[in-house]
Amino acid sequence: DLLVVGSANADLVIGVERRPGAGETVLGGDLATHPGGKGANQAVAAARLGARTALLARVGDDAHGRLLLDSQRAAGVDTVGVLVGGAPTGVALITVDPSGDNSIVVSPGANGRLTPADVRAAACLFQASRVVSAQLEIPLETVVEVVRNLAPGSRFVLNPSPPRPLPGEVLAACDPLIVNEHEARVILGEACVSEEPADWARLLLAKGPRSVVVTLGAEGALVADGHGVASVPSVKVDAVDTTGAGDAFTAALAVRLGGGAALAEAAAYAARVGAAAVTRRGAQESYPTAAEVDAL
Ligand code: ADP
Repeated sequence: DLLVVGSANADLVIGVERRPGAGETVLGGDLATHPGGKGANQAVAAARLGARTALLARVGDDAHGRLLLDSQRAAGVDTVGVLVGGAPTGVALITVDPSGDNSIVVSPGANGRLTPADVRAAACLFQASRVVSAQLEIPLETVVEVVRNLAPGSRFVLNPSPPRPLPGEVLAACDPLIVNEHEARVILGEACVSEEPADWARLLLAKGPRSVVVTLGAEGALVADGHGVASVPSVKVDAVDTTGAGDAFTAALAVRLGGGAALAEAAAYAARVGAAAVTRRGAQESYPTAAEVDAL
């Protein structure tokens, strides 16, 4: 089974002719409200692929929280670990102009109240999970506690987004650490002495994770472990909307690793899932079923 520990947000999106400047009010189109947040996205993506998936997250006792619980349940995610209350549900306020450029304000809300104690209280979810996947839209101390609560033999997968420097204890647990180009640069910091993704993979591996995956958008991905660096073929599709592609990739990778696949094999499947996700609008709404991935 897969356990995703992470964020759940309501994405509130308004199309505008022009994004407002300081002190300015602009009129926009109708509000669209979508379930999002990296944790919620990953859990939905994994469940859509047919994996038994649970989400450990926190939402508010409000309409956005209910929207998120509904979307998780509709996808088949076990929501026993979705805690309710403590703060309003996390929200991303998004304005998008006609060229597709956006401005985003995130209120972490309840995501910021997912505590180490919440992790300890979810021991039975950890016991049942072969793979545990996390991101960084929750407090870092909570992610540290996740690493400390892994069941013996279970595998930890981390997408450090939004990126920040990571304690050695977290890095050492990652198998793999999954980064896009921006995340690779931030995690490497001063050690980012090259422009070559293959070098980033090697440099990241030297920071302690057991394995590394660098995702490269339309160019596919790289995997690195003790055996060296290998590239994962990209999948040619007509990209419509890349929102949530990284979350779909990470979820699919975790699902396949949980099924016993080798890293390169799991990443090749994840690249197909990521590619399928960019062919449709939205994040969770764009995630394919296993049959749709096979048909790609
Ligand atoms: P993020 O969304 O975190 O920035 P990427 O843009 O690297 O991550 O996308 C994650 C994965 O999704 C890629 O490794 C690739 O497999 C797939 N993907 C993303 N964009 C495309 C695209 N335009 N065509 C095909 N696959 C894509």
